[in-house]
Amino acid sequence: MNRYPLGFFCDFDGTISERDMIARIMMEFAPDQAAPLIREVMERRMTVREGVERMFGLIPSSRFPEVVSFAQSHTRVREGFAEFVALCERQGWLLAVVSGGFDFFVEPALAPFAGRVEVFCNRIDATGPVLRVVWAHPCDELCQGGCGLCKPAVVRRHRDQVGRVAVIGDGVTDIPVAQLADWVFARDKLLDECRRTGLPHSPFDTFHDIIRAVSGPQPEVRLHD
Ligand SMILES: [Zn+2]
Repeated sequence: MNRYPLGFFCDFDGTISERDMIARIMMEFAPDQAAPLIREVMERRMTVREGVERMFGLIPSSRFPEVVSFAQSHTRVREGFAEFVALCERQGWLLAVVSGGFDFFVEPALAPFAGRVEVFCNRIDATGPVLRVVWAHPCDELCQGGCGLCKPAVVRRHRDQVGRVAVIGDGVTDIPVAQLADWVFARDKLLDECRRTGLPHSPFDTFHDIIRAVSGPQPEVRLHD
């Protein structure tokens, strides 16, 4: 039996946080060498996994404390997120944050909601000469591979715990997981993709938009009974 009638699988970078932290870190710590890699990944000519590994490999481990404090001081949570967490809790909906980002900036930003959201993200190993990415949630056999953190695999692992699946995101890395969703809340590049391919979706700007869409007496999107 489903433990949750509805599960939200929500991206972090550019979705809960207002801007993409991996790109910001790279533009701060290794701008010249990282810029072409960022472009390759954005244009889907290089896998996220390879791109992110190569980018962090540009940064010496001795600078990791600086990277951590830079990321933490530059993370701003999008408006309405606290209210959205409260809504999910009240309704008994699963809220899982599924991020291709890293524990050192995702977890501090979500600390006020600890125990109320599930968090899936990557880690950094700073014990070698340069930063090394630790992929804690790799691709499963149903994925074509190359994700780094495999969002579709995380959703598939939860499939028997949730009734409906809603995905919230903004970027190209959210496209494969959006294809598994009953409904998508999208901004930016993911919104373009939803429009182009006809995935069932609503655009959003803040989490208040999502709250309005799924709750109240006449929800625009009825994802639960
Ligand atoms: Zn994958």
